[in-house]
Parts: sequence; structure tokens; C-alpha cells
Amino acid sequence: MDLNTPVGSFSKAYKMYAGRLSKLNIFKLEDFLFHIPFRYDDFSLVSQIGLVQAGETVTVRGKVEKIQNQYTRKWKSLQRGIVYDETGKIEVLWFNQPFIPKTIKEGDEISMSGKVDLDGNKLIMKSPDYEVIFQNQTIHTGRLVPIYPETKGISSKWLRRQVFKLLQEFPSIDDYLPKDLIKENGLMNLDEAVRKIHFPSSLNEAEEARERLSFDELFNLQLSSLVRKKQWEKEKIKKWEVEKHKEKVKKFIKTLSFELTNAQKNATREILKDLSLDSPMNRLLEGDVGSGKTIVATVAAYIAFLNGYQTAFMAPTEILANQHFNVISKLLSNLNVNVALFTGTTKSKDTKFDIAIGTHALIHKKVKFKNLGLIVIDEQQRFGVEQRGILRQKAKNPHLLTMTATPIPRTVALTLYGDLDLSILDEMPKGRKTIKTWVVPPSKRTGAYNWIEEKIVKGKDQVFIVCPFIEESESMVTVKAATKEFERLSKEVFPKLSLGLLHGKMKAKEKDEVLDTFRSGKTDILVSTPVVEVGIDIPNATIMMIEEAERFGLAQLHQLRGRVGRGGKESFCLLFTSSKNPVTLERLKSMEAIFSGAVLSEIDLKLRGPGQMYGTLQHGIPQLKVASFSDFDLIEKTKKEAEKVFAKLSEYPNLAKKIEEENLKEVSPD
Ligand code: ADP
Ligand code: MG
Repeated sequence: MDLNTPVGSFSKAYKMYAGRLSKLNIFKLEDFLFHIPFRYDDFSLVSQIGLVQAGETVTVRGKVEKIQNQYTRKWKSLQRGIVYDETGKIEVLWFNQPFIPKTIKEGDEISMSGKVDLDGNKLIMKSPDYEVIFQNQTIHTGRLVPIYPETKGISSKWLRRQVFKLLQEFPSIDDYLPKDLIKENGLMNLDEAVRKIHFPSSLNEAEEARERLSFDELFNLQLSSLVRKKQWEKEKIKKWEVEKHKEKVKKFIKTLSFELTNAQKNATREILKDLSLDSPMNRLLEGDVGSGKTIVATVAAYIAFLNGYQTAFMAPTEILANQHFNVISKLLSNLNVNVALFTGTTKSKDTKFDIAIGTHALIHKKVKFKNLGLIVIDEQQRFGVEQRGILRQKAKNPHLLTMTATPIPRTVALTLYGDLDLSILDEMPKGRKTIKTWVVPPSKRTGAYNWIEEKIVKGKDQVFIVCPFIEESESMVTVKAATKEFERLSKEVFPKLSLGLLHGKMKAKEKDEVLDTFRSGKTDILVSTPVVEVGIDIPNATIMMIEEAERFGLAQLHQLRGRVGRGGKESFCLLFTSSKNPVTLERLKSMEAIFSGAVLSEIDLKLRGPGQMYGTLQHGIPQLKVASFSDFDLIEKTKKEAEKVFAKLSEYPNLAKKIEEENLKEVSPD
């Protein structure tokens, strides 16, 4: 057994937990060790019971004199106990944890950490952390106690015990970094760093450990990109004719009902340049929602067509695939380009297509490409490395264009995607108005509903209402909540209006119907789970209302907001929140004044502490475990070191292996 053992095959108990652990990105034993605490409870002050004072946060050790369950009149349970050592006694009280008298027995030697209170004139500890002392060691008390990112059914206490056991079982963790590198950068060795990040004897020590692990995280990312880039560039292909078809491309662009923005022109130029070279393109096109990425990709697909190659255009949802299909077939209808749609429900048997648009159904074996030359992946962060890989295998070294609306800050993009070339659409099409945005407290909810109704009745406006973000991937919990809200809104709030409901568990056909009805103007309000975030385009929708906005990341709110304001009408975004936390409110208020996705994502980056897990999936910016994307100095330093080491990577087989493994893993969290 080694640290690469998958958690599921390690023990029965772990097998049961495997699903939950995967939510924390813990798949193999080693991942426990690299599940990094985001803070520590300082329970290092150990005191004799006779010396503790009210108000102190301390750890005491003693014998249990008494422990029992009691029930209040309302059938809530209390656990009361008395603990003593040779200097005195202290009372202890827990609430609603009836299992405690089963884990702690009279006569046990226990350790408890927490705040000491006065109850009348007696000292008492309420809801302290506790553990039965085993082999004279404590894990959860009497030290700096690590607090981890948690998930439902996986507590810090549980994680702590697993980490502790693993560190005991594995006496040494091999260091894969070159010795010189460790020395020159004054780093702690890896084994020591892993032990100390979990169980430091001082915060200083924890900080030093963090420095080593941050270094590794950024260094590995950058070294991995260098390796990927080299592999990519090794492949040579036949050059495409671009110059020859320039006039046709220009003519096509002239047929559009609008002029391309300068940013679109630049990105198009960069892509056309890539396509004329003898190694495959690997480019990320990043642009805010509504910045017009689709048309840029369509130009690339048209060039592929003119060169006799097929294009595969993959989108993350059926809704989006349908929309792309409609838009792109219309754009290219007069040019003899054959566009086909492949989704879970529309299994086109067509093989004569020039452009295949679809969901991940495209990677299915049955979709046969004759001459695939270009792959476009929309909202790339939503696909796994594996899915992207399978699609690529359908061709021989195809050109790859990935697109994202996630405003990834430049530093982040360069660190994570150093192997990709980057084009940024940093300019909106002319005539877009800013979307008036307000944070709405509970006291103004009714007023807001009235205002919305008036807008609909008088202005024929249409409205999105987005239900709260409950969990990373949409399950029945989210669906139920949305359905309930839909019913409440239909019956109690807007009985005179027509409402539709959209959620991820509906069949594709139902979704289409709901969207078509909304698009045609027959429904006034579309209530939905956060799925609408991904690029749907409904020009007459002018109001976006978001429930429990504080649960979303700013960049994500910005993407949701981008669903309105697409037509010529004035548009609005209402962020409902009942939070009273000033930091949260300030964070949300930045939406009222800032309309650049990039700036909002920088703010998010600064304001969210590590370990805050909300909304990572839809936010789309991968989270670092230890390091920070705002640590520019370390990013620079590790970049230089990675370049140095890359030149002679073959001299360090352990590191090379580590990087290879790293490259097989997901880069993004979803
Ligand atoms: P996104 O970058 O979010 O994928 P889309 O490609 O869906 O954006 O474009 C959003 C809308 O803007 C579409 O209706 C598209 O036709 C329109 N559009 C794209 N480029 C321009 C432009 N240069 N001027 C005006 N409208 C444009
Ligand atoms: Mg799009």
C-alpha cells in the first residue's frame, strides 16, 4: 500500500466516504495530506483545572467523573459532565449531541479545548472540542488545531484524524524537487512541510510549511504547462491556406449585421495567423459574456471549411448547443456550409457535415469525422481534460480553440494555462448599455416585485429569476427548491403573469420548449436554477433577479447579469440578499459600480479567503490549495525556476514523474 492508493480501496469505511471525499478533491491517500487547513484553532494553552479562569480559551486534561444525557421540556438534549484533575473540577455542557456519553465514559481520561465560562459561581466549559486521550497523544485539543475545507458529512475533526493516522503510517514522504532548488530557495523539505502544515507547533512553523507548499503548487503548475507546450509544439502538420481565402473571409464578415469590434478583429487575426502555421493552434479566447466570441469562432470554422476540413464545436449544455446551431447555420447558410447538430436527443446520422455542433455527445464513438481539422470548445472550463482529450483523438493533431467567459485574471491565466496562447476580447460591441444593478435588502422585496410587475405589464419586458445556488452540481435538492419557488411566485406573487420554470433535470426537449416559449414572449418570467448562466441569448429579457446573491462569486454574478442587456432596451439586475454582514454587502455592492468581469474577478480573488468553497464550479477559476494568485512575486520566482528546471528535466526522474501525473489530473476543479 502506498500513498497512491485510491481512498475507496483502502478500507470499507473509506469506501463509504469516497463520494463525499471526491467533493473535496480527495481521491487517493496522498490527497488527504495535501488537503490543506485554511486556519488553526489555537488550543495550545494547556492548563491545570484548578488554575483556569473564566474568559480564557484553554485546554484541560482530566478524568471524567460523570457524563450523562438530559432532556429539556422541549425534548432537546443536553450532555452534562464533570471532569477533574488533581487540582480541581470543572463542569462541561454540550447541546444536542446525545452520542457523547457513548464516546466518553466515566473514568476516561479526556482532553477538552474551548472557552471557560461562569455558571453562577462555578466554572463551566460549553461545547468544547474534546477527545479521549489515547497513548498520551492529543489530535483535536491541546495544540494548534487545523481547520479544513469541509463538505457535508466530512468534518474537520474526521479529516484531522485521518491525516494524523496517515502521517504516523508513512514515516517519510519523498521529496521530488531537486536538492539544489530546495537549497537555493531556502525551502523546508517536503516531509517536514506536510507534517507541519497540519500539526505545527507554532504559527511561524505553519507559515514556513505553507511557503514550501505554495512554492510547489505554483512551480508544478508552471512546469506542467511547459511540458504540455513542448509536447504540443512537437507535432507538425500541413499548413492551411489562409492568405488565399482572405477575400472570402472578408466578404463573409461584411454580410454580418454589425461591424466587428477591434478586439474581435485582433482575435480573428491572431487565430488566422495560428491556422497558417505548421503546428496546431492551441489558443484560449477569453471574453466577457456578450463580447461576441461565437462569431470569431465561426470565422475559424469557415476557414477550416474553405480548406476542406471539418470543425467540431462543443458546448457544455444542450440549450447552448442548440443556440449555436441556430446562429451558425444561419450565418453560413448562403455559403454551402453544411452544419449538423449532435446532442443527447438529436442524434444526427449525418456524416456529410462540415461543422458539427453539439454537446459532449460529439465525443461519442458514433459521431464519425472524416477530416476533422478544428476543434472549438465553448465554456472550456466546464469540460474535463479527459473529454477534451477524447475529442482531440478524433483527429490527427487538430487546431484547438477554447473559449471562456470566465474573466480569468491575467496572472492566473499565465500560471494555469501557460501552454496556451491567449486572445482577449476586452471590448463590448457598440451600443451596449450598462445594466443598472442594485443590491436589494429583504425590506424592499415587495417593492421590487411590484416594480417588476409594472415593467412587464407596461413595458412588455421579460425577466429571469435565478434561484439560490445550493450545491456545486445541480441535484434534486436544487430542483426541488426551484420548483417550490416557481409555485410560490406563480400563485402568490405574480398570479396575473405567465411564468416558466427551467432546471437542469428537465429533458432536453422540455428545456427547449420552455426556452422557446420564453424567447417568443409568451412567458413573462423565467424562473431557473443557476443553469441559465451559460451563454443563452434572449434579447428581450431586461431584468435579471438573483436570489441569495451572496452565495455566488462576483464573476459568476457578472455572468448571470450578462444574460440581460442584449437588446436595445434598458436593463436591470437585482441582487437579493438578506445578509447583514458588512463585508458581504460591500462585496455585492461592487456589482453596482463595476461592469468589467476582469475587475470583479480580481476583487473576488482578493476578498475570498482560501478555503471558501462557494461557487467554484460555475465561477470557473480553479482554486489553488495553498498558494495565492495574488502572490505575484512567488508566481514570477517559480516561473523562472520552472524554466530553469525544464531545460534539464530528464535529470530529475522523480520530478518528471510527478509532473506527468499532474498533467493527467484536472486543471480545473469541475
Ligand atoms: P459571447 O462572447 O458571450 O459568446 P455571443 O457570441 O453570444 O457572446 O454574442 C452576443 C451577442 O452579440 C450576439 O447576439 C451577437 O450576434 C452579438 N454581437 C457579436 N459581435 C457583435 C458586434 N461586433 N456588434 C454587435 N453585436 C455583436
Ligand atoms: Mg458564448
